[in-house]
Amino acid sequence: MIKVTIWNEYQEERQYDHVAKVYPKGIHGALYDFLSKNEDMEVKCVTLDMEDQGLSEEILNDTDVLLWWGHQAHDLVSDEAAKRVQQHILNGMGFIPLHSAHYCKVLKEILGTSMCLRWKHDEKEKLICVNPSHPIAEGITEPIILEQEEMYGEYFDIPKPDEIIFLGWFSCGEVFRSGCTFTRGWGKIFYFQPGHEEYPIYYHPQIQKIITNAVRWAKPVNKRNNDYDNVEVKHE
Ligand code: ZN
Repeated sequence: MIKVTIWNEYQEERQYDHVAKVYPKGIHGALYDFLSKNEDMEVKCVTLDMEDQGLSEEILNDTDVLLWWGHQAHDLVSDEAAKRVQQHILNGMGFIPLHSAHYCKVLKEILGTSMCLRWKHDEKEKLICVNPSHPIAEGITEPIILEQEEMYGEYFDIPKPDEIIFLGWFSCGEVFRSGCTFTRGWGKIFYFQPGHEEYPIYYHPQIQKIITNAVRWAKPVNKRNNDYDNVEVKHE
């Protein structure tokens, strides 16, 4: 079983009617609904307003893959909680930051660049797979058209990714590295751009397929379980 934890700041769905209409159960609820259908996954949801911001050692210890949706509350995540998540990634936990989570404390600190990008509201996106043999692309043979999405554009200030799986093209002429993988320590990271809160992106079957594939890919192969202390060398 893959133990999946979905973390959502869960703010805009409660503040704005037009967002609540798209995601009445919260963005985490929409992610939960399709991920929990997989028999190899045990899924739980946590939110910013929970004890320890939903990111206690107990919860993280019980997580193989952490999905993260955040936007306006990045600064409300405590440095301690961000550090805990970072340490768990370094020890092998998979991490999937979605959409505006590019700018969350955890990702900024663990990747080490500004994570800045260009953005513009309400554009059509064509999401194109540029790495069809990658496990995250399994079953994605045609470009995905998102009639309405927020445009994210280059230059996207990330470190050089291990692999680029998807490119986004937007109707205003911008392009974006929309699906990228990174490795930090023992942990695997997949950043995935689609998922602006005003549009029903997470109900799209192919977007759901990509996120499902990403969870299976990001599952730890091994978790770090020792501290690599000084080893006494024996000369024979
Ligand atoms: Zn957005």
